[in-house]
Amino acid sequence: MAAHRIERLRVHRIQIPAKAVHSHGSGDVAGIHVAILELTTDTGLTGWGEASPWPVFTGTAEGNAAALHVHLRPHLIGADPVQVERHLNTANKVIVGHPEAKAALEMALLDLTGQISGLSVCELVGGRQRDDIGMSFSVANPDFDKDLDDIAAMWADGVRIFKFKTGFADHGFDLMRCETLRTLYGDAIDIRIDYNQGLPAFDAIRRIRDLEAFRPTFVEQPVKMHERAALAEITRAVDVPIMADESVFDPIGALYGATHRIADIFSLKIMKSGGIRRALEVAAIARAAGIEVYGGCMFETGLAHTAGTHLMAAVPDLTLECEFYMASYYAEDDILVDPFPVSNGRVKVPTGPGLGVEINPDQLARYAVAEVLA
Ligand SMILES: [Mg+2]
Repeated sequence: MAAHRIERLRVHRIQIPAKAVHSHGSGDVAGIHVAILELTTDTGLTGWGEASPWPVFTGTAEGNAAALHVHLRPHLIGADPVQVERHLNTANKVIVGHPEAKAALEMALLDLTGQISGLSVCELVGGRQRDDIGMSFSVANPDFDKDLDDIAAMWADGVRIFKFKTGFADHGFDLMRCETLRTLYGDAIDIRIDYNQGLPAFDAIRRIRDLEAFRPTFVEQPVKMHERAALAEITRAVDVPIMADESVFDPIGALYGATHRIADIFSLKIMKSGGIRRALEVAAIARAAGIEVYGGCMFETGLAHTAGTHLMAAVPDLTLECEFYMASYYAEDDILVDPFPVSNGRVKVPTGPGLGVEINPDQLARYAVAEVLA
């Protein structure tokens, strides 16, 4: 007889507006639209999870809310929350895809397991390798003058990593922005580039070579997610390291990516892999193949950022840091009681049991865009 049983499952679908529109090679985004999972036990504990989809990339908030409410609920009510892998295995058998819903499920289960055991999530999945992680901000405002003001403010906050979202306007705009930042901040700035699939494969190598002049640390996902052969060719052709994001979701994708050497770096995202444990498997495959990893995110609240932080705290080797900037520098508001902790350009890894954060229920009600599914 388990000591704790899941007694109640609720799904809150919320939308939080952004401070500014962000443009990407795959389109514009003006806010955060996510499904929040609330699991309560018969012993009075509450575990929280978040499904943060991007419709042009992974799935939809509506679809993930339904996955949790309709398809996964029957397998969770009355179940023992600490049997995490058993529940993930069941989830994979009853619903295909929906990795964000599975990430939300694992997040809430690990939050509960951590509260029950007194360990934080990063300790449950292998241990705390680091206490803080450098944070990258994505430069994606079509109004570059506004971005320059924001970058100056973040520079004063200690942020040194800036990732340009490219491929949504013309090539000259991308070159101009990189040149401007390299000139303004010299060698102290760490410039990265993310095309979000925005380059035509036939012309990708030439355009990336133009950008190499500004010494980016990496170039992320230049071509479409399914153009893996082209991605491998680009990786071989250019000097700058190439990162696969949309082209590598999970361990199966990572195995293909490593076998065919489609990139030098994989972006880890719990919303692609279906949670922290699967993302650590992606990291393990990458490590065995000599491929670097990076802490990526979708359009998330501080809750999913916290889970991502625990993942990246547990990854054995990390040199490229993370991009958990949304809660502090993109969204107008958040659902955490205490602000998602960033200081001097670094994300702090929480130390409390479980995820180590508290959710403000008033904020869930304030940003609700649908009835709570209960
Ligand atoms: Mg990306």
